[in-house]
Amino acid sequence: MKKLLLINPRNYFKQGLLKYEFSNFPPLGLGIIAALTPDDWEVEILDENFDDFEFTEADFVGFTGFTSNAYRAYQIAAIYKEAGIPTVMGGIHATMMWAEALQYVDVVVKGESESVWLQVLKDFDEGKMKKTYEGPRLKADKIPAARHDLFHPKYAFSTVQTTRGCPWSCDFCSVHAFNGTAYRQRPLEQVLDEIDSAPGKYLFLVDDNLIGYSRASLRRTKELLRGMIDRGHTRQWFTQASINIGDDDELLQLLSDTNCKMVLVGIESEKIEGLEETNKNLNAKVGVTNYNKIFQKMHSYGIGVLGTFIFAMDTDTREDLHARGEYIANSYVDAYQTTVLTPFPGTGTFHKFKEANRIKYDNFPQDWQRMRFFENVIHPAKMTHDELNETLKEVWGKLYSKRTIINKFKMTLRETRNASTAIWTLVTNSNYGNTIFEGVRFFDPDDIIYALPDGHKLFENA
Ligand code: SF4
Repeated sequence: MKKLLLINPRNYFKQGLLKYEFSNFPPLGLGIIAALTPDDWEVEILDENFDDFEFTEADFVGFTGFTSNAYRAYQIAAIYKEAGIPTVMGGIHATMMWAEALQYVDVVVKGESESVWLQVLKDFDEGKMKKTYEGPRLKADKIPAARHDLFHPKYAFSTVQTTRGCPWSCDFCSVHAFNGTAYRQRPLEQVLDEIDSAPGKYLFLVDDNLIGYSRASLRRTKELLRGMIDRGHTRQWFTQASINIGDDDELLQLLSDTNCKMVLVGIESEKIEGLEETNKNLNAKVGVTNYNKIFQKMHSYGIGVLGTFIFAMDTDTREDLHARGEYIANSYVDAYQTTVLTPFPGTGTFHKFKEANRIKYDNFPQDWQRMRFFENVIHPAKMTHDELNETLKEVWGKLYSKRTIINKFKMTLRETRNASTAIWTLVTNSNYGNTIFEGVRFFDPDDIIYALPDGHKLFENA
């Protein structure tokens, strides 16, 4: 039988993050490719999130990867090239930087690899593979369930995707460029079956926006949640959604009834200028002064808010970044992901920064490793690169201090009256703090997470 080896490459700059099972998610794209691979192939996933790379014999080797993992993929591809084993790469980075990727792998699949994967394998069998393939966007009912059985058993989360695409075009985001502007929704029964069959203590519905962009998509989300209830879903879970998630009480009740603990909401900035600059139009429409009301409404259903914030937009001064830190600390956001504006290939931000020669670390492909959200890789508009570093150290140092993290935990507990939601806040903030500062500053999340269902192990080793 032929062997297909699929590799999830590691980013060696992300050691802090890799340490914690709670912060790692299975490589869903590889699981879907595995599901589409015919039975005359044996498929293995080599996952550097858990296992150091060791040369493994195979007939064909495939890679996926975000920008931050691309360099590592190229390093491993070179080993297989040397051994005369053909390699293929897909995913967002290879799609956007296909000419670069072709210098390291034999074949690049641009776009949604799933739609041309069978053709690639057929051409492999016939010895006539092309250098590049274009994968058109799949119809939603053709997106198969991933082979969850091939993922590393140590993953705490299972990941399932129920929709793809986004009609908005935020400057810093590549979702619309990669997955398109049409919101494609997988059939509910297929999704529910996949949720039921996916192992893992917790569930992450990885959609960029679970509730979608219309009344019809909101109805579908509610049907999905009712389906989870009908099937007796009990696992704690989280997802991502737009800020208008707080508009609908019935939705919030269903999220609560299905044991949703936290929703990631892209806040980006508490300043209208930042939202306008980056095209984050929905947030601008909702209004920054309404954020807290929305967060409190989510709390009233026992749901925590993981707010994402971007630092160093072009309209940000040093004072603005300090103010953003204060806003996060004092607002009703529970957990917070603070990132530096990063010019990822495929985004409007990338073109803007590249043209203006404002990417500080541009020794590609090595410097792709730095593009992991938390590292300053730019020349910001209103301060120097070094001033931004100093400011981030101060602001983020306070935000991820023991004092702020504990205060947030207490706030979540007080607001939601839900201990497990408060623990999610604690674990998430500790996790980001540990990641950004490359070491354990406070709790080791792994000591806490296994306390989530029953509570008796809480803080055991903290
Ligand atoms: S950030 Fe969210 S809303 Fe904006 S383009 Fe990306 S997926 Fe769409």
